[in-house]
Amino acid sequence: MANNSAYKIDFNRPTIVGKELYYISQAIHNGHSAGDGAFTKKCHKFLEEALGVPKVLLTTSCTDALEMCALLLDIVPGDEVIVPSFTFVTTINAFVLRGAKPVFVDIRPDTLNLDETQLEQLITERTRAIVPVHYAGVGCEMDAICAIAAKYGIAIVEDNAHGLFGKHKGKYLGTFGTFATQSFHETKNFICGEGGAVLINDPLYLERAEIIREKGTNRSRFFRGQVDKYTWVDIGSSFLPSDILAAFLYAQLEARTEIQTKRQNIWNFYHENLQDWAESCSVRLPIVPSHCDQSFHMYYLLLPSLEARSGLITHLKERGILSVFHYLPLHLSDMGQKFGGKPGDCPVTEDVSDRLLRLPFYNDLSEADQSYIVKAIMEFEPSHIPMAT
Ligand SMILES: *Cc1c(COP(=O)(O)O)cnc(C)c1O
Repeated sequence: MANNSAYKIDFNRPTIVGKELYYISQAIHNGHSAGDGAFTKKCHKFLEEALGVPKVLLTTSCTDALEMCALLLDIVPGDEVIVPSFTFVTTINAFVLRGAKPVFVDIRPDTLNLDETQLEQLITERTRAIVPVHYAGVGCEMDAICAIAAKYGIAIVEDNAHGLFGKHKGKYLGTFGTFATQSFHETKNFICGEGGAVLINDPLYLERAEIIREKGTNRSRFFRGQVDKYTWVDIGSSFLPSDILAAFLYAQLEARTEIQTKRQNIWNFYHENLQDWAESCSVRLPIVPSHCDQSFHMYYLLLPSLEARSGLITHLKERGILSVFHYLPLHLSDMGQKFGGKPGDCPVTEDVSDRLLRLPFYNDLSEADQSYIVKAIMEFEPSHIPMAT
């Protein structure tokens, strides 16, 4: 594919693995390009079997999958939802849309996942859900999180946008919560442009999930011949993606091993080759606990300071390499402040947000390009960065 970027090495480049266009043409020739066609069903089956979950439903995005979860949980104004401040905006916006009040929890300094030791003190009688985000596809401490949720009768919705096929203590991420959500946005491991899925782990919600996803109608049951007419039965919206997108996605899912192997190699290359430099410059590399099988979603560095990070971004940019920072603390955003967020609420989040830098990471990043990136990084010493002006 042509590289139209101003950079020699981009941060992300979506990759086609093989059969995407062929499957898309099939989806069109099948005469069923709307939602829930043959390829959507193939994706559902593939993910249900691979993860061992009762039901997977493709959605138009991870955001929409989260909105479906908020509807399924009957979130009403005044309900509270606990969420890490260090995450993407829609992890919580989906619940705020239903009137929920976000309750922000800080992250652990090692995995950058929500700090489970701080959860219990945040629970009130209005708490309805905990939304753990498996940052970089490294599992949160699910034993503790599930125990607290069970003790207080609170739902867990795993935002697993980064973590498809990652595991925690041998169990797939996305299979712990009442629900989990996936993203197939072009920046994720498996892509179809824009897309997502909701994993329904509690069969109690199965029928209603289908209804909410199909505009509040029982159309899915009608197509299965379980009712003789379809009608409006509940609230809902249009959360199904076109089968053309599912066709694209299915080609990606079929290449699961190929994609994950490539990403694992890229991750390991950075990790092995940056070790000595990182130690000599007080840079922290990602920590993956031994009980976590990660999904190889991203590679990041934790620089010693904001100035060092800005210095490295510029240093890499001058060498044609695009590196990017990540989440700004949600509790300090304009919306977060409206909900009472203030500096000091989540100190680890505030600190990490200033110092974290993500390196180029995509399936087709060549070893030559990776060597070039590593060499460029090793020419940078945070102690030599220019003084702030
Ligand atoms: C990408 C992402 C989302 C949103 O995914 P979309 O499919 O773009 O809606 C939500 N949460 C996290 C943690 C993400 O990384």
